[in-house]
Amino acid sequence: MPPDISYYRFSDLVDLPSFTRVLESFFQATGIPNGIVDVDGSLLSMAAGTNACTQFHRTHPQAAVRCRASNLAIMHDLRDGSVAGGLCHNGLMDYATPVVIEGRQMATLFLGQVLHTPPDTAFFRAQATQFGWDEAAYLAAIAAIPVVDKARLEALMAVMVEMAHMLATSGLARLRQTVLERDLGEQAERRIQLEDILESSPVAISWSDGESRIEYINHQFTQLFGYTLDDLPNLETWHQQAHPDEHYRATALHAWIQAVALARQTGTQPPELEADITCKNGDVRRIVVRPVWVGPRRLVSFTDITERWMSEQRERAHDAMLEMVARASPLNDILNGIVRQIEAEDKTARCSVLLLSADGQHLLTGAAPSLPAFYNEAIHGIQIGLGVGSCGTAAFLGQRVIVEDITTHDYWQPYLPLAQQAGLRACWSEPILSSHGKVLGTFAIYHGEPTSPQQVDLERIAFASNLAAVAIENRQAHDELERRAYSDYLTGLANRRYFLEQAEKELERTRRYGGDLSILMLDVDHFKRVNDTYGHKVGDIVLQKLAQVCLASLRDIDLIGRMGGEEFAVLLPQTTCEPAQQAAERLRASLAAIRIPLQGGLPLHLTVSFGVTTLADKDANIDTLLSQADQALYRAKAEGRNRVCLYVPCDGEPPTTPT
Ligand code: GH3
Ligand code: MG
Ligand code: MG
Repeated sequence: MPPDISYYRFSDLVDLPSFTRVLESFFQATGIPNGIVDVDGSLLSMAAGTNACTQFHRTHPQAAVRCRASNLAIMHDLRDGSVAGGLCHNGLMDYATPVVIEGRQMATLFLGQVLHTPPDTAFFRAQATQFGWDEAAYLAAIAAIPVVDKARLEALMAVMVEMAHMLATSGLARLRQTVLERDLGEQAERRIQLEDILESSPVAISWSDGESRIEYINHQFTQLFGYTLDDLPNLETWHQQAHPDEHYRATALHAWIQAVALARQTGTQPPELEADITCKNGDVRRIVVRPVWVGPRRLVSFTDITERWMSEQRERAHDAMLEMVARASPLNDILNGIVRQIEAEDKTARCSVLLLSADGQHLLTGAAPSLPAFYNEAIHGIQIGLGVGSCGTAAFLGQRVIVEDITTHDYWQPYLPLAQQAGLRACWSEPILSSHGKVLGTFAIYHGEPTSPQQVDLERIAFASNLAAVAIENRQAHDELERRAYSDYLTGLANRRYFLEQAEKELERTRRYGGDLSILMLDVDHFKRVNDTYGHKVGDIVLQKLAQVCLASLRDIDLIGRMGGEEFAVLLPQTTCEPAQQAAERLRASLAAIRIPLQGGLPLHLTVSFGVTTLADKDANIDTLLSQADQALYRAKAEGRNRVCLYVPCDGEPPTTPT
């Protein structure tokens, strides 16, 4: 804004040297002395030459007092009118006119002294005598005073004032123009600076006007979301593009917009919004939206927290997976969870986990919920090796294999039709390594287009394979623990505790649903001798061999347990006495046929005695049955070993099978 007139002084508005020349010309042309005085009383300019006043009146104290008195009288009169003038006490006429610009007096123009009529010589002679001046010189000076009638003087005065007014007014206009131009320049500069700042801001920014028209978006906004101002004429379009989910717009987004509007009315800080925003290319980014009201404009900044948010999500997924591992959830569930997490992070990715088979030579499907079934079936069981796709090669080398374009890569040539049918163009595979560096399987990320991995992709694939390694390795530990808990370490058969537990359950089932149940007890004959003759180690081998033969001879539903030492029990579900006896006899023969080669000697063979019992009394428990079988076994021993004895209640005949 240009300043008010009160801001200026006359000398600001008018070029004083030029104006002095005007006054000088006027003096030359008219002989009328003149001058201009600032509002504060200081003399700005004067053209007067030498005259009666300067030569005589002001040189004498009494005459000078008259000069000042008449000046004061004129100044006083000026307040009331536009032109003031009068006869001074020294006998001369003085005139003054204010120079008023925009209602404000800026200066005072003085004309004088003059005479309206030829001088009264007698008066001036008397004055020369009174103050002691040289009469002739004084009268000559008085004679030089121009004689101008009042009307003409006022006309001349008007010309001068008009001129002063014109110069001052044009000066003011010029000054104001300069200020305006300077202000405009500054404004333009400020605007340029603001846009420069916004354009180079790392934060995406937009603003919309009171009508919800989007007026501005900065460079980073377009960088982040892909939209230009042309794509987004108003907020409604923006909301539709950014949040395609109609339900979300109608609920959470609507509530937020209301809260932001309310904040404007109450003059409070508008609430932030953390939301998924869909970019022009379909990508979804996690954004914190911060609005502020600047008058009717809504200025909004958008902070991209996608990476942080994803890593938080990943941390959560990681914790969830570890919890599943700790809870011994099925490995399949855990691996599927890992795949789903990576697919959630990269919406264009499809992932798979392949597990290395026990022989370390083949890959088996672990989890690949997004790949077509025909593809998974074709890959299942594939032999690892150099050039066997990305995963077969990664498992073989124990190294990450990045194939950016399947169609042109050597590793994929044998599998091109399969990959094409499944719509796969890129495959990055990471070996899943155990804590000892052993390959457990592979984690692969597929894309439908040729794609090279970015840093974030490599982090993802490493994250997934590490987590899968924990899950797989933990499962194998878990399996070992479970095996140890249930089985006997030497023979791998059920241990005593597990046998009793299972036998009890089976007995309970038989009692409830009916049916038969038999139990065999067997004990190696003269086993002490084996140990004593060939050593404990050979004794162990004998027990292991015995276990193998038992497993091979009996049915899958039969449960064999090592009850202690070289004593074993067999549970035969759905088996009556006779088939049980036959099974025992078959097993006895098989065991007797065992030949264990010995270094530098004849092979070792062994015999085993059996006791058999069958559930008769439905109230019997497992201890009773085992005790009955034991009694039968005892008899078998007593009757010469290498034989099968049936348990017979006290009143019955104890039948035996002779060897
Ligand atoms: P019998 O025909 O009367 O059964 O004679 P036996 O010598 O087999 O006598 P018994 O069943 O009492 O002896 C069991 C022996 O088995 C005693 C023990 O040293 C041996 N034994 C028990 N457990 C193991 C084992 O885990 N490994 C080995 N090598 N020997 C064992
Ligand atoms: Mg024995
Ligand atoms: Mg024994």
